[in-house]
Amino acid sequence: MYHLACVNCGATYPADEIIYNCKKCGHLLAVKYPLDKISVSKANWNRRPISVWRYRELLPVTIPPVTLQEGGTPLYHLKRLGEEIGLPYLYAKHEGMNPSGSFKDRGMTVGVSMALQLGKKSVACASTGNTSASLAVYAAKAGIPSVVLLPAGKVAVGKVAQALMHGAEVISVRGNFDRALEMVHDLCLTHGLYLLNSINPYRLEGQKTIGFEAVDQLGEVPDRIVLPVGNAGNISAVYKGLLELQELDFVDRLPMMTGIQAEGSSPIVRAIRENLPEYVPERDPETVATAIRIGAPVNGEKALTAIRRTNGLAETVTDAEILSMQKDLARKEGIGVEPASAASVAGIRKLVQMGKIDRDEKIVCVVTGHLLKDPETVIKQCEPPTEIDADLPSLLSALHL
Ligand SMILES: *Cc1c(COP(=O)(O)O)cnc(C)c1O
Ligand SMILES: [Zn+2]
Repeated sequence: MYHLACVNCGATYPADEIIYNCKKCGHLLAVKYPLDKISVSKANWNRRPISVWRYRELLPVTIPPVTLQEGGTPLYHLKRLGEEIGLPYLYAKHEGMNPSGSFKDRGMTVGVSMALQLGKKSVACASTGNTSASLAVYAAKAGIPSVVLLPAGKVAVGKVAQALMHGAEVISVRGNFDRALEMVHDLCLTHGLYLLNSINPYRLEGQKTIGFEAVDQLGEVPDRIVLPVGNAGNISAVYKGLLELQELDFVDRLPMMTGIQAEGSSPIVRAIRENLPEYVPERDPETVATAIRIGAPVNGEKALTAIRRTNGLAETVTDAEILSMQKDLARKEGIGVEPASAASVAGIRKLVQMGKIDRDEKIVCVVTGHLLKDPETVIKQCEPPTEIDADLPSLLSALHL
């Protein structure tokens, strides 16, 4: 059986203790499996469809899970864009193809299942949008109430629509994400709701399966995995999962974990650049990529470890670079993603131009959420449709043929 362990001091806690921070030092907790005792085989995995639950021996859930068939997302070879950038082995894992349209579903299928397993009756989160959409979806599937706190006016409309339609109690906080997270944390500690932000160690267990799937789909360990970094839960989770595969001897090396942030919201990149032991929080993060508009990433410490231990890289991209890559992915590869997601590929383009990437590398960029999450940003970037009278001559004169 697994237990929880502090990522800083190593203090351990039983798996069924509802706790988000170490009682001794306040740092985050991670799930630890007795990997030498677990019965898990690659042959068993290979018999199951590619999905989060293919890897169930390395997940904490023992009850029938709350699932909508998350994971199993496509890994696309970016042939045209890769040629343009000068990378023949560039891939995108399209996490927008999950049930609610982002990778958060991998975390929520596990997190909401754990809420039930632990006997909790309600769930909550703060969110830049996708976490709330996903929580609302999985709480609906589980038949339990959910509460979500959003920074007022800073959440893409598709995400708010999902949280509302799937029946979450949606609260708009006059403050930024970081403040909303502090508030929901207090609410959960005092009122017994189960907190499903990425400080929840079980939620991140689901997200680590992105790395498992990338290895299985590519048929080998990629040289580099690139993720947009907001709260830094995802990059930490993927790294943790791959470490477990290495301990099990399922892989013989780790990819270089590479994190991309928006220029206006980049505490992790600055910590790597300046070789700081800890990141310095940003008070007023700002970027068009609202999903990564986070100044005080709660998993920042783990992300710094992931990047440093694997010889990875961290880089920023401007909003213009993000939007330009969003368009390139859409028009040159047929891949529709929201702005934050395009940051990973935009970052790779920039790192190649800076001469920091070997052109033979096999690179998997995680593109994290679907285009339709943020239609307003899309509409602003494109020419409006041409309106014409309903006759053929008008049509012919309007077309650029
Ligand atoms: C949540 C999210 C991110 C950031 O992930 P973190 O784990 O917070 O670093 C990036 N892109 C999208 C679309 C997201 O929803
Ligand atoms: Zn501790």
